[in-house]
Amino acid sequence: MSKIIYFDGACLPKNPGGIACFGVVATSNGNIIKKKWGVVDEQGTNNIAEWAGLVEAIRIAKKLGWDNVKILGDSQLVVNQFNEKWKINKEHLLDYFIEAHEECQGLDIIVEWIPRDKNIADPVCHRAFVEHVENQIIAQAKQERENCIIKQLTHKTFIIINKHNKKKYKVSIDPNFSCSCSFFKKYNAHALLKRSNLKIRCKHFFILEWFLEKHK
Ligand SMILES: [Zn+2]
Repeated sequence: MSKIIYFDGACLPKNPGGIACFGVVATSNGNIIKKKWGVVDEQGTNNIAEWAGLVEAIRIAKKLGWDNVKILGDSQLVVNQFNEKWKINKEHLLDYFIEAHEECQGLDIIVEWIPRDKNIADPVCHRAFVEHVENQIIAQAKQERENCIIKQLTHKTFIIINKHNKKKYKVSIDPNFSCSCSFFKKYNAHALLKRSNLKIRCKHFFILEWFLEKHK
């Protein structure tokens, strides 16, 4: 069987109660054909995220016209519940089960468990979280950028000063972005993001980017 679709789900930055994200990677003979990621719920759980990932994987199989496909994920709960080996005692997960089996009709689909380190959808899922948070941050940066004074320290280091509260932040760009603010430290200390080699940029990065564009 040459068509394999990987799915993953995670609730970040905390489970439960964080942002439930999914990631899906469709491959044919080992080549990546399609990647998809997104946010399911802003107050979610890992299990909701994983189930949403599986449903999305089945939908992608349908869209690609793949009627004979193996779907792999690292959630024992979702794989075993889908295969009717484990009971489903939560109603909202039962809804996903019904949806998944409806979407499967007419397709020859096998859903199997793989270890996390073999799941190539894992970093894709984390990317959904990064994008979601950064979109909110960009909106904040747009509101605040007029209130900032920016001074250049070195070629790649800047100080951003908030005119109102006089708070100062040291920002470095290229090759690695870093900022002295608490948001940057808090979010980027997350083990899952480190694992996927992803960084969340803070509002100071976007303010600086806007400033540099303006003064080019
Ligand atoms: Zn910052």
